[in-house]
Amino acid sequence: MAAKVTFAQDRCKGCELCAMVCPKNIVILDTSVTNRKGYHPAAVTDMALCIGCASCAKICPDSVITVERL
Ligand code: SF4
Ligand code: SF4
Repeated sequence: MAAKVTFAQDRCKGCELCAMVCPKNIVILDTSVTNRKGYHPAAVTDMALCIGCASCAKICPDSVITVERL
């Protein structure tokens, strides 16, 4: 299933919970970006592999992640 995952990167605190629960292991902390809070925010490496399960969005304590099923 195609899906689109977006991150409100300025709110991310880099806790990596989303990366730990992703069954496809496609969520990483993007070390090329530092957000306003001083963290490397989470991002998806290969959106084509995302199955739209929304596990990442559900576990995020700060509601940073939005998953849309396309
Ligand atoms: S929706 Fe599921 S597969 Fe897609 S990035 Fe989030 S946890 Fe991974
Ligand atoms: S769970 Fe939320 S706050 Fe933690 S790294 Fe992922 S997006 Fe950032």
